[in-house]
Amino acid sequence: MRHFLIIDIGGTKTTAVVFNDQGEPITDFIVKSSRTYEGEDAVFQNTVELAYEVLEAAGMKKEDIAGVGVAAPGPLDYRTGLILDVPMMGWRNFPLGDRLKAEFGAPVYVENDGNLGALAEANVGVAKGENVVLYQTISTGCGGGIAIGGEIFHGHSGFAGEFGHVSINFSGPKCGCGGSGCFELYASGTAVNNRMKRDMKCGIKSLAFEAVGYDPDKVNGKILSDAAEKGDPYAINMLQQEGYYIGVGLSNLFNMFDPDVVVLAGGMVKADKYFWYNMINEIRRHTCFHVEEDRIRISKLNDKVVAYGAYVMVKKAIDGKL
Ligand SMILES: [Zn+2]
Repeated sequence: MRHFLIIDIGGTKTTAVVFNDQGEPITDFIVKSSRTYEGEDAVFQNTVELAYEVLEAAGMKKEDIAGVGVAAPGPLDYRTGLILDVPMMGWRNFPLGDRLKAEFGAPVYVENDGNLGALAEANVGVAKGENVVLYQTISTGCGGGIAIGGEIFHGHSGFAGEFGHVSINFSGPKCGCGGSGCFELYASGTAVNNRMKRDMKCGIKSLAFEAVGYDPDKVNGKILSDAAEKGDPYAINMLQQEGYYIGVGLSNLFNMFDPDVVVLAGGMVKADKYFWYNMINEIRRHTCFHVEEDRIRISKLNDKVVAYGAYVMVKKAIDGKL
């Protein structure tokens, strides 16, 4: 049996795990701080150390690894494993793929996390076997990805699926991407936190705010869903509003792709029972054909989805099949 080293390098934490060629993880998913903002080599060395740690946990040496699948923050060139410009990692034209290949002596495949999310869901997740699968995360930001026929759809240069930057309000606030009124400025966890801070400062009372002692720096999505569980009207209303924004965003995706399935993932999605009704209503209001409810699904791979996607990528690249 062959084994694959899987590394998911995220903005705050990095995960490593070893999969066998049956698609099963044979170690724990070992998680460590990404040590971002410590410079190009610190982040890379940190990644390599974590990889050796997980190999040791698997009782293996690097020679036992048939391939390495890596999820990395973009923008990146998936063909070469070159990271183009990620300031928090100190990576500018950083040859991540080549550096890892030199370290481990095995083929290395690098892809962005949104694309891997789509790949995972279409092959081993809740959209397994479906043809046109879109993947949308609703967390700190709103990443996305497209899988068609079980393979990543890259577009011309690998950037297809940037759903978080589809504008839903051209006269809205400026976005870091250079556009304005982007979906993620309304629907992301960051956007929800900003609305909570504003409301707290306006004197609105809520069990959610009580939970953090009315400290605006401590707001997060969890206090909202916890308060909603207790019937807090403010929290329920906020999550319903979140459903409105998600629905508007997804209606654009339905009109563009008529996908078989859209898979939602990320921290905010855990509160789906509160936003579902509003989300479906908005999707139907703005989509020019009927959308069956079953075509929107919640990821069950959760925070492991990207690692599973990296496994599917490296396994298919080396074997030509899963
Ligand atoms: Zn944007």
